[in-house]
Amino acid sequence: MIYRLLCLILLILTVSCQTGPVPDATGVLWTRTAAEYTACGYQAYNAARVNLGAALADPSWTAALEQSGGYGDLPPAVIFDIDETVLDSSEFQGRRVLLGGAFSKSEWDRWGRLNRARSIAGAVDFIHFLQEQGVAVFFITNRSCQQRSGSASACPQEAETIENLRSLGIYGVTEDHLLLKHEVKEWGADKTSRRAAVARQYRVLMLFGDDLNDFIPGVRGGISPEERREKTGLYGDWWGCKWYVLPNPVYGSWRRALDKPVQQYLEADF
Ligand SMILES: [Mg+2]
Repeated sequence: MIYRLLCLILLILTVSCQTGPVPDATGVLWTRTAAEYTACGYQAYNAARVNLGAALADPSWTAALEQSGGYGDLPPAVIFDIDETVLDSSEFQGRRVLLGGAFSKSEWDRWGRLNRARSIAGAVDFIHFLQEQGVAVFFITNRSCQQRSGSASACPQEAETIENLRSLGIYGVTEDHLLLKHEVKEWGADKTSRRAAVARQYRVLMLFGDDLNDFIPGVRGGISPEERREKTGLYGDWWGCKWYVLPNPVYGSWRRALDKPVQQYLEADF
């Protein structure tokens, strides 16, 4: 009894010391172990493979809200997010749960340097398929481009991400096809400026991500869950056709959109 009480006190102290949302153990367990999560990856990438022909054949087809002007003759491209879209960072998230949750930039960097992220199911084969079809592949990630002590590179995260992709069999990714947060001054956490940069030179056929920010501008902050769902519904026909979302129950802008206490969203009338 005393042991249980001590454990409860320790748990409360641990949780109250966190600076950000604590990863939910159930969500991390699901992404670490569930075959259903694996199936979601195959489902998204198989559906995209079926739709690619129609996207290539129709010069008016674009998946980027930022695409404008006469884009019909531009070469085709597909844009991917990195984490929880192509690379699986659930090992890092699991460690956060075990250690008490707070996000540590230095720990994230240390894990990233290990190049041990697995791939999301279906992603590697689909990227190979695009490369065989002559479709350009871009990655827009909120992995941050920041100098690090002990590194001569201004953006060591870029080379590390390319190396992790290469370790999974994704070759030919050059630095100009991997757009990190803050790599250019105007490239903030909202990905719209980076999508616009790609869309100026390519016709964007499809977008892949695990966060609404991978698809729609202005959804990272200052917006309620209801407003985010409304924006999602405005493009109801695009999901599974031009846009492919991978599940992420662990973290993301959906989580930041919640007001505290989050228990308010769980209230029920019965
Ligand atoms: Mg992601």
